[in-house]
Amino acid sequence: MPTDASVGVDISALERGAVVKQSFADGRVLARVGGGTRFEDLHAAFPRHRVRCVPTSDRITVAGALAACAHSSAGYFADSVKAFTLLTVQGEAIECSADAQGRGRLLFDVVPGSFGALGVTTFFDILLEPIEAEQLFGVHAEYAAPQLEDGFFAALDAVKDDPRFDEGLGGVIYGNRGRTLILADARLAPGYAAEKNRQALLTDDDVEGHAFSQGLANRFPRFAEATVSKTYPRGIVRWAPWYGFQFYQRGYDRAPEVLGGKGLKSALARLLGVDARVPVAHQGWFFPRNLTRQVMDVYFEVLDDFPGIEKQVEQQDIVLLGPCPYPAHSLGRTESDVGVLTSSYSLATLPPARQATIIQFFARVSQQLYAKLPQTRVSLCKQVHCDRELLRRMHRPWLDLILPLKAELDPKQLLTSRHLELLLGP
Ligand SMILES: Cc1cc2nc3c(=O)[nH]c(=O)nc-3n(C[C@H](O)[C@H](O)[C@H](O)COP(=O)(O)OP(=O)(O)OC[C@H]3O[C@@H](n4cnc5c(N)ncnc54)[C@H](O)[C@@H]3O)c2cc1C
Repeated sequence: MPTDASVGVDISALERGAVVKQSFADGRVLARVGGGTRFEDLHAAFPRHRVRCVPTSDRITVAGALAACAHSSAGYFADSVKAFTLLTVQGEAIECSADAQGRGRLLFDVVPGSFGALGVTTFFDILLEPIEAEQLFGVHAEYAAPQLEDGFFAALDAVKDDPRFDEGLGGVIYGNRGRTLILADARLAPGYAAEKNRQALLTDDDVEGHAFSQGLANRFPRFAEATVSKTYPRGIVRWAPWYGFQFYQRGYDRAPEVLGGKGLKSALARLLGVDARVPVAHQGWFFPRNLTRQVMDVYFEVLDDFPGIEKQVEQQDIVLLGPCPYPAHSLGRTESDVGVLTSSYSLATLPPARQATIIQFFARVSQQLYAKLPQTRVSLCKQVHCDRELLRRMHRPWLDLILPLKAELDPKQLLTSRHLELLLGP
């Protein structure tokens, strides 16, 4: 989004589409993809292939996902990007890849997580792996308990270290140290008897239905907790079609148009107080995996000081990822595993003072985490409620990495955005 005194760069005209650049004997394909291509476009072009680790909505573009160094619950999207073209404000097209020399090599590493600060990415070579349209994944409820206990952290570590669960994993904690759940994901063998078992939530193709569920969960946050815990008792395995599994949050991108629409269902939802904007306070934090327990202790200690707001929890989840090779990622390049905490509190129907309390809570979490566990970073992508001065202090290494490159590629500092202004502005 442009800042007040600037001109927006409309990247919607970037090429949307994908063609085969190279095919491999094992069925993988290197696709040449335009920067405006959304994951849903990529799927339309290659219905029998997939990108391994993607963000959870298929309306995100490949360029946006790389700019944010997006991750799934299994790994980093950038790992599938083998080359890209960076168009600088000076009109130079820099080919970036692992095989490039000089700047092209450096930028190949630095652009993931640079949020458009260095130029516009126009074309990508993305590695796609073959997948049958009928491929199902199993969502395993490996652990569930009525309260947060040591067992949660032990189970989270166990699923991360279990090679079966290479499609993703995550832990969910409701309320203030309340109900917990650990889901871990694996491919199901061909011939799996789906008809005898039940499907995982939000993984079918009724995206309009998902938008309603997400709207209701936003209006009545306890509804999400009740539904999820009933659906995933400990030990159950639910199946999911691979596409619906990978993009299970597609409903969010459709929510404003669906919930704000003209139909009877939308009108009823509005009557129930569902807000088509699905307003949430949303924040994410990255940390070394071995600090997961301490991070959650600090998080809940802060929550103790804000009694009552835990009723607004829509999501508090933890994902564990492998080491991060991208220096502009929120946590920088790491040798060891990475933990991610993402938190969303519903702001629907709350009076402004109550909304402000929740936003204060998010700001305080960032502040306390950084004070007590200085290796922690608020996510560069999900940082909107973080104090600006703290954000810049915490992300000094990101600034030190990006600023010299920006001075070279964009000497007049023409490229900016509201987001970059927070980090780079005066
Ligand atoms: C419903 C939903 C689910 C999400 N799930 C996840 C998730 O699971 N994991 C995760 O990591 N993130 C997730 N995200 C965050 C998402 O990955 C980022 O916000 C991503 O940057 C959005 O990309 P976009 O295509 O919408 O681009 P925009 O929102 O338009 O832009 C996002 C950023 O990318 C930059 N950018 C866009 N295009 C270009 C380009 N061509 N060249 C250079 N820079 C560019 C912009 O400057 C901006 O900084 C989710 C977001 C939503 C809305």
